[in-house]
Amino acid sequence: MAGADSETKRIVFLGPPNSGKGTQAVMLARKIGIPAISTGEMLRAAVAVGSELGGRVREVMDRGALVDDELMVEVVSRRLAENDAVAGFLLDGYPRTAAQARSLAELSPIDDVVLLDAPEEVLVKRALGRGRTDDREEVVRERLRVYREQTAPLIEEYENQRLLRRVDGDQTIEEVEKAILCVLARNGA
Ligand code: AMP
Repeated sequence: MAGADSETKRIVFLGPPNSGKGTQAVMLARKIGIPAISTGEMLRAAVAVGSELGGRVREVMDRGALVDDELMVEVVSRRLAENDAVAGFLLDGYPRTAAQARSLAELSPIDDVVLLDAPEEVLVKRALGRGRTDDREEVVRERLRVYREQTAPLIEEYENQRLLRRVDGDQTIEEVEKAILCVLARNGA
């Protein structure tokens, strides 16, 4: 599409927490042969090994807030500069704010933005069923509130750029996978 190399795929997965982005991102990225880059996973890994980055983000993540834009822009810029991202990438959980979206647009063209969404009660039920320590109901609700406030406005922006592909996340994993492949094929991915 927009890039010089038609083989290059640069995809963004947008959607609320527990919409199934992570699962679908890994499956699709493997299928296309590009790295699935989850900023949430990168940050959790940093916390787990106790790195300096981990120390800086742990408390923010625990309360369901967003890590500051400057730090996230740095983390993602470095990751996209690695060799495996040259032929394309699938970003899962980034951008999440208008500032991150602006920075990404300067860093690289994007071919498709896949929006996975589901009703709020489905998302909350999934989160609580998963039982991670940061998944207490109040934190789950806070993460959803932050999504609606800071991230959801990006939907319209990507729609205006004709990059948005909507997929119903309230289906089985297999059905969602099929729907994603279908919207991407329709748009030349
Ligand atoms: P996720 O696994 O994508 O839901 O991310 C888990 C947590 O990591 C989020 O609740 C945020 O605290 C933090 N995080 C991940 N990606 C971002 C981002 N793009 N901007 C700010 N914070 C992020």
